[in-house]
Amino acid sequence: MRLHHLISLANLDRDCISRLLDRAEHMRVDSHHGTRRLDLLTGRTVLNLFFEPSTRTRTSFELAALRLGANVVNFDIARSSTNKGETLLDTLHTLEAMHLDAIVVRHRETGTPEFMVRHAMSGVSIVNAGDGNHAHPTQGLLDALTIRQHHPDLATLKVTICGDILHSRVARSDIHALTTLGVRELRLCGPQSLLPAPTEVPGCILVEDFDAAIENVDVVIMLRLQKERMAATLLPDEAAYFEHFGLDTRRLSRAAPGCLVMHPGPINRGIEIAPEVADGAQSRILEQVGNGVFVRMAVLAEVLGR
Ligand code: ASP
Repeated sequence: MRLHHLISLANLDRDCISRLLDRAEHMRVDSHHGTRRLDLLTGRTVLNLFFEPSTRTRTSFELAALRLGANVVNFDIARSSTNKGETLLDTLHTLEAMHLDAIVVRHRETGTPEFMVRHAMSGVSIVNAGDGNHAHPTQGLLDALTIRQHHPDLATLKVTICGDILHSRVARSDIHALTTLGVRELRLCGPQSLLPAPTEVPGCILVEDFDAAIENVDVVIMLRLQKERMAATLLPDEAAYFEHFGLDTRRLSRAAPGCLVMHPGPINRGIEIAPEVADGAQSRILEQVGNGVFVRMAVLAEVLGR
């Protein structure tokens, strides 16, 4: 069944996630790695509505829409009437009155994309580009795609996600994608204060010692400290944090040979990852960025029914 909106990966089954990843692969091949435009969405209009900063996600949604032949409008929050007190609902109805086909939304409040699905005109698709600490579904998909390109059989893989899991929407979407696709073992590592309750992450192994958590894994996904979502009392001392939870070459040598090093970005060098690892031979960080465009092409084509 075709998706009309993409809010979270939590309600998607394995077939649906695999279909979106296959579609992203086709987009990569058919667009000759992004060098040829596909005219699947000619005449359609996509609005990027980002209430939080973004580099990769916003640019790649824009490129994805353009490479499918759609028109794109980037809503400039800083210069908008949001600053004059307009509510989200009034902003939504105002923008819809100009005729849109899809709205890609990022917001600091969990639940905003779902709220928009409830209130948007029928025929307008809502795509979540990150809400609070809840979900970042296209990041979950592009991470799964990047892993699958290197290891087609996910059932053999051990994966560790390390860092501020508690506040990370990326971690939540990665967990949904990877458990649904059936990875063999998924370990979550971080300081106890930044780990979720075990009941929130069934099937995952929680580990506080990064040396143990990285032992023999095939993939390690590092996360940024989400300071903007953290109470000041939770903020760890950065030097101590790197010592216990930073990925450096010594720690990486404990992982399986060729372990993929991933990070959704933006990276904070020297806080969660050493520069020589971020730029090293095992780093897949820029591959993730490249895959982001194909995944977003697949998602826009899916929700807009082409
Ligand atoms: N860019 C990702 C997000 O928006 C990860 C991060 O900001 O740390 O969630």
